[in-house]
Amino acid sequence: MENVLVVGAGGVGSVAVVKMAMHPEIFKTITLASRTLSKCDEIAENVKSRTGVTINTAALDAMDVAATVALIKETGAELVVNLALPYQDLVLMDACLEAGVHYLDTANYEPEDEAKFEYHWQWAYQERFEKAGLTAVLGSGFDPGVTSIFATWIRKHKLDGIRLIDVLDCNGGDNGKPFATNFNPEINIREVTAVARHWENGDWVETPAMSHKVAFDFPAVGEKNMYLMYHEELESLKTHFPEIERARFWMTFGDAYINHVTVLQNIGMTSIAPVTYEGHDIIPLQFLKAVLPDPSELGALTKGQTCIGDIVTGPVGDVEKTYYIYNICDHEACYEEVGSQAVAYTTGVPAMIGAAMMMKGIWLEPGVWNTEQLDPDAFVDMLNTDGLPWQVVELDGHPEF
Ligand code: NDP
Repeated sequence: MENVLVVGAGGVGSVAVVKMAMHPEIFKTITLASRTLSKCDEIAENVKSRTGVTINTAALDAMDVAATVALIKETGAELVVNLALPYQDLVLMDACLEAGVHYLDTANYEPEDEAKFEYHWQWAYQERFEKAGLTAVLGSGFDPGVTSIFATWIRKHKLDGIRLIDVLDCNGGDNGKPFATNFNPEINIREVTAVARHWENGDWVETPAMSHKVAFDFPAVGEKNMYLMYHEELESLKTHFPEIERARFWMTFGDAYINHVTVLQNIGMTSIAPVTYEGHDIIPLQFLKAVLPDPSELGALTKGQTCIGDIVTGPVGDVEKTYYIYNICDHEACYEEVGSQAVAYTTGVPAMIGAAMMMKGIWLEPGVWNTEQLDPDAFVDMLNTDGLPWQVVELDGHPEF
């Protein structure tokens, strides 16, 4: 394979195509398509100025399956990398099946009117992809994505199985704005306002959103408050590694962020139920997105580092061991390299690497796969060479929090 179609000209899509262009030996032809052609053209200019590579651009509404199939055929793409929004996952999977090409995304399918963060809609495509001899890789961002691949790497090389896993997502960056989200505000706020859920002893345990706070001393970043949240990889990790006793996901937020979200939630601005205003049906959260800063414009303003990784405990023979595996990424260094901040970078780079794994034929078994089901070794090597170096340290037991 050598020809890729990337859909979605947002923060993540912008990073992924620059990084693809840095690998002309893997990605010989790159087309970027999105609803707004001018955004694709701006990104193409950025790619050209940074790498000298010309990428093709196209206007596409991915909700129109026939239009996507036509574009796949016109470009000759062999893989579709979906960096649009979770709402487009199923239509793009349908288009891939119809056109006979492979698929990769970074976020689970979401119906627009309900925040679910569940995989069953996409897992239901397993048989169709398998029968067609095609591969769909789900969730090849950082979390989900790298954090699940880290878990698989630890399970393959360090432990006999996983008993406890905590995924810790820390953004120690500051963009100087009173309130801004680091990726698509609508998706971000849907995530943080959802009920917190973690897996423990064979069942889901629910707690109110943002109610469980713990201070943790992150490498490079220092001490930050992190909050227990639900995140989609918990579902796939506990399904694919059934020995897991407890799986939790934590994300850091500053007090100002929490105060803003609390107020917005209390006054109904985070709702995804439509309200009628002057004869129009408006979804408050979508309106809120329209007035908040565009995450793709925060790159030049953001300073500091992210630290994302897993603390994993499990047996090795008769003893139990704990490892902390993580990446540290610097917002300003990302901006200098690709013109985006670290949140888009830490998602766009794994999307490129996942695509590279498919282009090279390493991840091409027919079917629908979450990243923890795939061999981690070539992927984690490329994290080291392509901008997201990682470290693994042994801890003295699983931290109590
Ligand atoms: P943005 O909102 O910045 O970009 C999304 C892009 O998708 C926009 O350019 C938009 O189009 C395009 N788009 C939306 N609808 C359609 C459509 N119907 N047809 C074609 N294009 C469409 O989002 P991000 O870049 O921040 O996020 C991209 C994805 O990455 C999301 O799914 C997000 O959930 C996921 N993500 C995953 C993470 C992970 O670690 N796994 C972390 C962060 C994000 P246009 O502007 O052209 O109108």
